[in-house]
Amino acid sequence: MGLSADEEQMVALVADFVDDRVRPRVREFEQDDIYPAEFIDAMKELGFFGMLAPAEFGGVDVSTACFARVTEELARGWMSLAGAIGGHSVITYLIRNFGTDEQKSKYLPKMATGEIRATMALTEPGGGSDLQAMRTNATRVDGGWSISGSKTWISNAAHSGLFGLLCITDRDVSPAHKGMSVILVEPGDGFTISKKLPKLGYRGVEACELVFDSRVVPDDAILGGEPNLGWGHMMRGLEVGRIQVASRALGVGQAALNDAIRYAQERESFGKPIWKHQSVGNLLADMATKQQAARLLTQDAAERLDSGKRVDMEAGMAKLFASEAAMQIALDAIRVHGGYGYSREYDVERYFRDAPLMIVGEGTNEIQRNVIAGQLVARNKI
Ligand SMILES: Cc1cc2nc3c(=O)[nH]c(=O)nc-3n(C[C@H](O)[C@H](O)[C@H](O)COP(=O)(O)OP(=O)(O)OC[C@H]3O[C@@H](n4cnc5c(N)ncnc54)[C@H](O)[C@@H]3O)c2cc1C
Repeated sequence: MGLSADEEQMVALVADFVDDRVRPRVREFEQDDIYPAEFIDAMKELGFFGMLAPAEFGGVDVSTACFARVTEELARGWMSLAGAIGGHSVITYLIRNFGTDEQKSKYLPKMATGEIRATMALTEPGGGSDLQAMRTNATRVDGGWSISGSKTWISNAAHSGLFGLLCITDRDVSPAHKGMSVILVEPGDGFTISKKLPKLGYRGVEACELVFDSRVVPDDAILGGEPNLGWGHMMRGLEVGRIQVASRALGVGQAALNDAIRYAQERESFGKPIWKHQSVGNLLADMATKQQAARLLTQDAAERLDSGKRVDMEAGMAKLFASEAAMQIALDAIRVHGGYGYSREYDVERYFRDAPLMIVGEGTNEIQRNVIAGQLVARNKI
């Protein structure tokens, strides 16, 4: 299908932003875990927060395939910047597709500019994979809902003005997912960010623990206005989210591959550039092949979504394969760099610390395999 000329231009704009502004300075922010306010401000100005918002609400309204490419380019510069638009874009997608007219006009224009940043809150301290066992719940009060419980590992929470919260709104139904809603929660009384969690990579942007202690929201805070439809909504959002995570992995993998190809030509041993040693050449060949396979899977999932199909399985495959490939490519880039690969003066050690997040986040790869197997059987019933 390919991208439109305007979309190609947008990807080129992001690539220039990454090469001119991000890559030369990323270590300044990353190593000391400094929030990259100036990059985020530039991303707002360039329209990156409005990629999935409709044009009528001020968005750029690109295809999922373009969104994936932009994400990859950002992650090629610094995965944290791609993470900063991840949950935000999923919530944009949910409001766009399932929100009421009031929710769309209230949030989408400000989300498109990045004035309101959003994140999604699913994971709880007791578990992220077993979402059916979640405890955070909302009970009916006069004119609205009172929310209590806690969420953890919520990306960008301290800078978010809107939380797409998945929680229980009917405790009496079975299975539990039939009693879940996505609630659009703004910070306010009864809501605190209790902790910023220290982490291996994905630095600069925060991941936090949230506490809801009788946070009261109005009736119309339920996504779409009707309770207990949240599981289905969120599963649709996660299709985009998993394509986004696959694209983040592609960006990290591409950066590691690029650095390895360059270094293998510069560095010499035994009188020749190291890529001419068959073991190193083979490493590069395998890295590039995995990267290309990951790109094709991701592109395929994105294009299917753009053609209106469900992509639970395809997005799961892309996320699974691309994240494992990025991890391996990052490790192999360290091998190619020898001792320098272990140095904080080179970027490859950062790729190696960033890559595991894509294995764990947006549903672990073990959960992706469960989703893929379930879909294989559902689509091939005997
Ligand atoms: C930096 C970072 C940012 C994050 N950002 C967000 C965010 O913005 N919003 C959000 O909601 N969450 C976020 N997460 C949370 C992430 O989605 C969860 O960590 C992930 O879903 C796994 O949940 P868990 O950590 O509770 O692990 P668990 O669910 O406890 O899993 C532990 C292990 O058991 C395996 N396992 C569990 N159940 C099964 C099963 N049925 N079959 C096979 N294996 C299984 C898992 O694959 C894993 O290997 C983030 C996490 C990190 C690290």
